[in-house]
Amino acid sequence: MAELPDKRTAFIDWYLAVVEAANLTDKRYPVKGMNVWTPYGFRARRNLDAVLVREIEATGSEAVEFPALIPATEFAKEKEHIKGFDAQVYWVTRGGLSPLDVELVLRPTSETAIYPIFALWVRSHRDLPLNIYQIVNTFRYETKTTRPFLRVREIHFFEEHTCQANEEHATGRVRSNLDAFAKMAAAFALPYLAIRRPEWDKFPGAFYSVALDIPVGDARTLQIGSIHHYRENFSKPYGIQYEAADGSQQYVHQTTFGLSERLLGAIVAVHGDAKGVVFPSSIAPYQVVVIPIPGADSGEGPLKVATEAAERLRRHGIRVHLDGGEERPGAKYYRWELAGVPLRLEIGRREAEARSATAADRLGRKAPVTLDRLEHEVAERLAEFDRALLERARAAFSVAFSVAKTLEELAGSTTVRVVGWCGTEECGHRIETAIDGALLGTPEDPLPFPVGEPAGCVACGRTDGVRWALAGRPI
Ligand SMILES: [Zn+2]
Repeated sequence: MAELPDKRTAFIDWYLAVVEAANLTDKRYPVKGMNVWTPYGFRARRNLDAVLVREIEATGSEAVEFPALIPATEFAKEKEHIKGFDAQVYWVTRGGLSPLDVELVLRPTSETAIYPIFALWVRSHRDLPLNIYQIVNTFRYETKTTRPFLRVREIHFFEEHTCQANEEHATGRVRSNLDAFAKMAAAFALPYLAIRRPEWDKFPGAFYSVALDIPVGDARTLQIGSIHHYRENFSKPYGIQYEAADGSQQYVHQTTFGLSERLLGAIVAVHGDAKGVVFPSSIAPYQVVVIPIPGADSGEGPLKVATEAAERLRRHGIRVHLDGGEERPGAKYYRWELAGVPLRLEIGRREAEARSATAADRLGRKAPVTLDRLEHEVAERLAEFDRALLERARAAFSVAFSVAKTLEELAGSTTVRVVGWCGTEECGHRIETAIDGALLGTPEDPLPFPVGEPAGCVACGRTDGVRWALAGRPI
């Protein structure tokens, strides 16, 4: 097996090599940007989706599924939205041999599919809030270089759409989404920042957009999701109205919350290392791999004990794989490390005789576990592994940012920069030019590292109305 490229100096090469070597996706499908989910990658995706479903449903959101095709007439109703997506949509113009009377859009996102139906579902203030989500594929004609999970044309998309009685309740829903995402991110051991995007970079049709950004080294950031407040921008053109308690007709205020397989890409990017992928146990396709080590004089012992161990863990609800193949143990270790399995149980003659196993986690720590308390000890090792993984990610996160006091300092940045910004678009663009990237926006919560107060705008020097902002190079 060839060695992986260096993650620090050749990040994208490393990322592509790791995704390929771990067999998470097959990119040989003959449509650019549309990859095949392999059995191993699909297991990870399903586990990841289960976390999203668990956390969003805990906030009272219900699953639905809307059709993938949207009439062009509905799609065109919100002007900013159509302008924002016009160049990215796939059009369906023919049914069989006949041109369609009303052309159809393959959903790039589902606002315009869902909102005409919301107008039918919402009648009274008693119908509110209406919180629904779906996990479906969406399609965008990406013109930039496509990358597995990071930039694709068929997107595995989680989208929540809600209707609220007023602007304040919609703001509350944004906050609730941020809280739900904090729990999702904790399950994935991913540190992140919630950043309010500047006006010129918000979602088409949104009142404001909060993005969820993850630093992935060298000033690069990965937007893994976003939460939008729409005010009445969609409810007016789509006629989503309700009768208030006082009998008046009101337009709903809406929000959305979107996540995609970029989350999986972020997990690979943040946790992966020189040996390959590292999965947190919450989404690992296999949480444990059991490897019997047959020796010349060990007979059936190791395989028998390994089989028993795997069976017991499986019954205990742990995702386990027994690798009893012919390969040398060293080759198996290498392969499962590459694939990111959190915990490996090695069982040789000595372990078999002592009814024990050597547990080696993906961060390289080894400890003996006894078969008597196997389920308990494995669960403990996995929890300990997740804690250590989060610690490692946090350590990298804490050094991924640094303050810049002048525009000159931004050139060639190797960290995401924290800068004073007066809020004007002109200064924003000057910052973007200086870092050769983007002004990501202003943090939605206090920054998780000590920075004090900004002295002035990094571009114009003004001191009034100055806030901290983040600038980096989005992937
Ligand atoms: Zn300024």
